[in-house]
Amino acid sequence: MKRVVSGIKPSGDLTLGNYLGAMKRWAENQHKDGYENFFFVANLHAITVKQDAGQLKKRTYDIIAWLLTVGVDPNRSVIFIQSMIPAHSEICWILNNFVTMGELGKMTQFKDKSAKAGREGQLAGLFDYPVLMAGDVLLYDADEIPVGIDQVQHVELSRVIAQRFNNAYGETFKLPKAVLSEKTSKIMSLNDPFKKMSKSGTEDSYIALDENPEKIIKKFKRAVTDSDSIIRFGEDKPAISNLLTILSEFTEKSVDDLVREYEGIGYGQFKKDTGEIVAEKLSGLQQKYTEIRSDEDRLKNIIKEGNSNATTLANEKVSIIKDKLGLI
Ligand code: ATP
Ligand code: MG
Repeated sequence: MKRVVSGIKPSGDLTLGNYLGAMKRWAENQHKDGYENFFFVANLHAITVKQDAGQLKKRTYDIIAWLLTVGVDPNRSVIFIQSMIPAHSEICWILNNFVTMGELGKMTQFKDKSAKAGREGQLAGLFDYPVLMAGDVLLYDADEIPVGIDQVQHVELSRVIAQRFNNAYGETFKLPKAVLSEKTSKIMSLNDPFKKMSKSGTEDSYIALDENPEKIIKKFKRAVTDSDSIIRFGEDKPAISNLLTILSEFTEKSVDDLVREYEGIGYGQFKKDTGEIVAEKLSGLQQKYTEIRSDEDRLKNIIKEGNSNATTLANEKVSIIKDKLGLI
């Protein structure tokens, strides 16, 4: 049995990138044989950037409801909230002593995010979050971490930390492996195809899952394109390639088929079609979401059950580690 662990931060409205790069893949993974899935709301990670308390709470439930909407099934997967399991914070402190500031300083995400954050935003939490992330996966003996390409470096660091602990105290942690989805390891921003689409990006750069059809269509119409006017996939066509990837996901047609279909057709039509198809598919999901989100009692029960399953494993791991370290 292979165990999969992955999380999403309630740090903004969920985007098409989160859906195609993570949530949709998580739902699919449940139907593969031999996998045990753990998905969580990474709310402790979210506070490395200032959050409004009310929004943070609301978005935590929003994520659970979206997970259910896209097909993550609480009977097949353990769904939990990071902050409700103290073992995450506890292991983070312990693992802090198995990683150097030099190693953390090399993390691209830290460099990107701290550059954006300004002087007041240079928080120790932002610097340290890869260690919390290592704890998130090491607590559960995760085998595979399905992530977007932006998170691969952090999974690699988790392996380094785990190996270092194992060398010092004997076999304790499994070494996790990052698993990239072949199709959509990275959805790019609509107004800058060299940047990842992120929920913390600017309004025009992303499509939020709960956006209305008019807005979605408008955003695709405004999406930047590449120099010539041919619809083709390739490294020299980052903007069009990104749109082709998105359209392929929503039509279930291959990129090659789409390129054939759009031969001789201009960017304008292509972007209009993409916007309309995405808008239509998302409104179907939004209807389902509204219904699921309205039953907060049910969401709370799902969380309670998931937390309880996760806590059992997490506490067991923490007590093994404490014992090895001589912590009473
Ligand atoms: P933030 O800007 O706050 O970091 P985010 O959009 O990057 O938000 P995360 O909560 O950091 O979202 O990531 C949740 C999951 O979604 C991770 O597995 C991450 O790799 C994946 N993901 C995020 N953005 C993209 C993207 N543009 N393409 C593919 N996967 C993505
Ligand atoms: Mg991110």
